[in-house]
Amino acid sequence: MPLDFSEEEISRYSRNTMLPEVGEDGQARWAAARVAVVGAGGIGSATLYYLAAAGVGHISIIDGDQVETSNLQRQILHDIHDIGRRKVESAWEALTALNPHCRLKLHDTRLDAANIRDILKEHDLVLDASDNFATRLLVADCCWRERLPLISAAVGGFQGLLLVLDPAPGNPCYRCLLPREPQAPREGILGAVAGVMGCLQATEALKLLLGRKSELTHQLLSYDALKCRFRHVKREKKPDCPLCGQ
Ligand SMILES: [Zn+2]
Repeated sequence: MPLDFSEEEISRYSRNTMLPEVGEDGQARWAAARVAVVGAGGIGSATLYYLAAAGVGHISIIDGDQVETSNLQRQILHDIHDIGRRKVESAWEALTALNPHCRLKLHDTRLDAANIRDILKEHDLVLDASDNFATRLLVADCCWRERLPLISAAVGGFQGLLLVLDPAPGNPCYRCLLPREPQAPREGILGAVAGVMGCLQATEALKLLLGRKSELTHQLLSYDALKCRFRHVKREKKPDCPLCGQ
């Protein structure tokens, strides 16, 4: 354990450091890590809670919305007292109460082509927990160009999807799977499904930060909550991909 860990932190993280796959070195890696999370909504609530609880040292939260009553069915970072507040401020309060050792950087803004590079650069890992395809493609394009590893999670209805995008040569990018923005009508979401996908995203993130390889670099993980079924689907690099193809 690094010498600057307090008794409280040593106790707080003891169930992490007991894991041989984590240990004191792994806990130190998490403490030094810089992770950006796009979206403090349904998926982001679960992701952010578990990253903070695990002891990830530097977390940037990007969200330009305010808390609304219709969010509370799935966005468990926020509660009834937060209605009308900025989501990043509400998230800061909840996460600081859970783990005051995490340094949180708040970006109360929507990502766009003009600001995304400055906000995402200098992170070790980007987690996309946004709720629309335009943002997912914007984040995926920026991460690919900046060589930032990305874990992208999405939910709709009773379905969830998880992708790990490793920008190493030869690996498929997000646009190999989804070349352009699809038409997607607004649909309902079972809150617990967003929670499942956020937990999976946080788990993959913590593993990558330990230096482990993801099993999802060449396949996606789909979750069908109605059938209680997880499936791996192979993803391939497309020669005619608009982003990474020739
Ligand atoms: Zn591609």
